[in-house]
Amino acid sequence: MNLKRHGPMTPALNVFHIESMGTLDGPGIRTVIFLKGCPLRCHYCHNPESWQDQTENWMQQDELMALIMKMKPYYKNGGGVTFSGGEPLLQARKLEPLCKRLKAEGIHVALDTSGCILNQDVKVLLEVVDLIILDVKHAESEAYTALTGGALSKTLEFLEFIKAIHKPYWIRQVIVPDYNDQKSLVLKLECLTKSTYRQKLELLAFHNTGMGKWQWNSPFWNRPSLSEKILVELQEMIQKNV
Ligand code: SF4
Repeated sequence: MNLKRHGPMTPALNVFHIESMGTLDGPGIRTVIFLKGCPLRCHYCHNPESWQDQTENWMQQDELMALIMKMKPYYKNGGGVTFSGGEPLLQARKLEPLCKRLKAEGIHVALDTSGCILNQDVKVLLEVVDLIILDVKHAESEAYTALTGGALSKTLEFLEFIKAIHKPYWIRQVIVPDYNDQKSLVLKLECLTKSTYRQKLELLAFHNTGMGKWQWNSPFWNRPSLSEKILVELQEMIQKNV
């Protein structure tokens, strides 16, 4: 989709990409709005071009509302809008009024985030949205930092907050062969993130299709994609455990 370019007028949002009929990032059919900027640097990031927020694709909230309202008839079976990234929490203050407008229209709103920011703006935004899709990138602190450059403790603090405000959430993790595909690690993730508000635990297969975008010294350079067989085994193990 071609994004119009505007000056950085508040409360415009810096948008990387828009997917109008997404089915993977939340329930039902969704408009997925990928926002620019991310404080993490995951080795397997498929959208490293979303990191730089210097190249600006500012979209006014009215433009986004108009686009979303056109799609509203498709939001059946719990569908709606998901804000993803990059890291949508970087634009929390500007997102909150837009999310309120969507809620006033009866539209389901989800946030797809790594949970690496928890400031006052983020807390206010979290109260407004319906669902958090929390990407916990590794269940162990050291490996989390090695993978992302960030801290697992921040994601866990974020998780504690969404549990405290009784917000439904999904947990996600990309499973990388010979990195976090051990059963013990997946069980640890299950245990770490369990609560009555967790609606789903999704394991996603690592794919090396983004390899061309990674730095040659990435530890995942030339690593094979995760086999379907291992993913199914891990998913079945989780099902038995939940
Ligand atoms: S959190 Fe997402 S956008 Fe940010 S570096 Fe990691 S994979 Fe890329």
